[in-house]
Amino acid sequence: MTIRHHISDDLLLSYAMGSLAEGWSIAVATHLALCPDCRRRLVEAEEIGGGLLEGTQPQAIEPSSWESVRARLSERPAEKAGRAAVQAEKPIIPRPLRDYLGGDLEAVKWRSLGKGASQCLIRTGENTTQVRLLKIPAGKPVPEHSHGGRELTLVLSGAFEDETGRFGPGDLEDADGSVTHQPRATPDADCICLAVTDAPLRFSSWVVRLVQPILGI
Ligand SMILES: [Zn+2]
Repeated sequence: MTIRHHISDDLLLSYAMGSLAEGWSIAVATHLALCPDCRRRLVEAEEIGGGLLEGTQPQAIEPSSWESVRARLSERPAEKAGRAAVQAEKPIIPRPLRDYLGGDLEAVKWRSLGKGASQCLIRTGENTTQVRLLKIPAGKPVPEHSHGGRELTLVLSGAFEDETGRFGPGDLEDADGSVTHQPRATPDADCICLAVTDAPLRFSSWVVRLVQPILGI
């Protein structure tokens, strides 16, 4: 596996410092499980993060999101990945993510998105992100999905291409709202990827909820 698209420095540092919401952390931890280069970078980032934390008050840190991920991962992703690497079986879905799904790909309960594409929403302990597996048929575009903010997409099998390049297994695309991209699975195989986005806006008023689908907000 040749990984060409890695975790950005700021994302890795946020992860190392425990300031990422659980949803984003799942994508980062899953890339780390697949990428020895980024595991090495994480060690450095944790040292930098530790240095930064020494200068702050402990109560200034918001540990809840990090701890919920840690509780599920129960140990460092790098250590977990090391163990996964020596297993005889070769699961398509690496460990941190497999724990959320309750198994490898055969455990995934797909729901159709139309045009042959399917998704499986993944439940997390927070509601600021939306985490899903997407399965895109070979040669087909990723279904329209609106997101205003950041989107992390990690390829698990197959590949997709968009204006910014080609993304194969292990590659992580980090797109913000300013990027208009229309990813398309490459023609050779279905593409299965993990997609994390900002959660859609939720309105408390039932009136707004009623008009939401009409206005498309
Ligand atoms: Zn990497």
